[in-house]
Amino acid sequence: MGNKLFTEILENAPVNEPERQFYFIEQIKALLDVKKGEGYEAKAMVTVIGCQMSAKDGEKLQGILQEAGYSITENEEEADVILFTTCTVRENANQKLYGRIGQLKHLYQRNKDLIIGITGCMMQEKDEVETIQKKYPYVHLIFGTHNIYKLAEYLLETMLSKEKKVELLEDSTEIVENLPSKRKYAFRASVNISFGCNNFCTYCIVPYVRGREKSRDSREILKECEALVADGVKEIMLLGQNVNSYGLDKKEECSFPELLAKIARIPGLKRLRFMTPNPKDFSDELLQVMKENENICNHIHLPLQSGSTAILKRMNRHYSKDSYMALVKKIREVLPDVSLTTDIIVGFPGETEEDFQDTMEVVAYAKFDSAFTFQYSKRTGTPAAKWEAVPEDTVKERFQRLLEHIRLHSEEREGRDLGKVMDVLVEEKDKESENMLTGRLSNNVLVHFEGGERLIGEIVPVRLDKSMGFYYYGSVL
Ligand code: SAM
Ligand code: SF4
Repeated sequence: MGNKLFTEILENAPVNEPERQFYFIEQIKALLDVKKGEGYEAKAMVTVIGCQMSAKDGEKLQGILQEAGYSITENEEEADVILFTTCTVRENANQKLYGRIGQLKHLYQRNKDLIIGITGCMMQEKDEVETIQKKYPYVHLIFGTHNIYKLAEYLLETMLSKEKKVELLEDSTEIVENLPSKRKYAFRASVNISFGCNNFCTYCIVPYVRGREKSRDSREILKECEALVADGVKEIMLLGQNVNSYGLDKKEECSFPELLAKIARIPGLKRLRFMTPNPKDFSDELLQVMKENENICNHIHLPLQSGSTAILKRMNRHYSKDSYMALVKKIREVLPDVSLTTDIIVGFPGETEEDFQDTMEVVAYAKFDSAFTFQYSKRTGTPAAKWEAVPEDTVKERFQRLLEHIRLHSEEREGRDLGKVMDVLVEEKDKESENMLTGRLSNNVLVHFEGGERLIGEIVPVRLDKSMGFYYYGSVL
């Protein structure tokens, strides 16, 4: 019966996107309206595991669900639909998903109409999808990174047929624009400028699960940013696996620095950030655009990965210890107040103590404000997975030494703005103490200060009274 109904609905569906998805959204809405008349509450929950890309996917899922008539809840006990966007960049991200899915079994046993769905990077891996289908039969919906925009179509089919829906695409050249998206914060938004990656760093699964690099049309990006600013957004974060190669896959598209400059000129946009620039093609032009536009934030996340030229070569990163240090020097000359952060992998296959010392040397030189540090995680299908691993004890021991070293060297820059009055974008109530708020400086450093909730979403001048290392206590003027 349900299948027959879905087939009929399918026959009338528009072929082109996004009209097709809006049609399915309307169908779900009509269905929910009938059920709501009978007291059904229609609540949905989206859990994000992973990076900003995954979080952005989560916003898109929430946008579609809301448009279709669901209200978003944080409480899985009351949800009728529970979706996950996943990460597979390191093994522990996969384990996190399995833990969460396992916990949902009792909810499904209580409510057989509950729809549990999983999308995102991990669902691009065949073995993981097989494991989920075998071990977690109550997961009804599985789709990957290339067809996230089709949520409404898949959801309607699952609702009507009560059967499982698994649809995975190897890659796609299609970018579907103008579907709804629900921002986590009213005053802050992230905007994809490109999808996928062509770099194939030898440790990294991203090009395999997110596909080849596809840049969005710059006119669409600008339109989206303008609409966000008109809607009250003060800070925009541009997202791409390598923002510096934006546009290279398209004829007659502008470069990343040109795109950044155009967006920075949108009247009313207070802050503009971007992530992630690969050091291998960080241009002078980009530094100039940053210098010339006050609203581009004073922060660069510049992933190092390793300080050893030999390891960087085997990682396929296309820069060396010397060229990375020269880039840091140039950045600090052009933007003396910039905050630099980084990603570092410890224990890449074949890493010797000498290689590790090179990483320590670059850390001492660059004086990062903070660093995300990772123990190398073997990802099946990547070239490095076949190479001989560094013993676990050695990795753990180096990891500890690196953490201490980063702390020591970042201390030299910490507190450099002590006593200054700086603009803070107020983000939320402080999680730990009443009457306190938390916000961020342009250089991404956190500040805690006393204030009322009405300041959330505002940019306010705050005097930085006390340095706590990676953050400040301040007082609003
Ligand atoms: N595109 C970004 C770049 O090039 O810096 C990074 C994307 S990746 C999601 C984020 C970070 O995860 C990387 O910078 C790297 O440090 C880390 N990472 C990726 N693969 C890893 C692996 N197999 N083991 C440990 N860390 C890894
Ligand atoms: Fe992974 Fe390298 Fe692409 Fe970043 S640039 S996503 S680390 S392959």
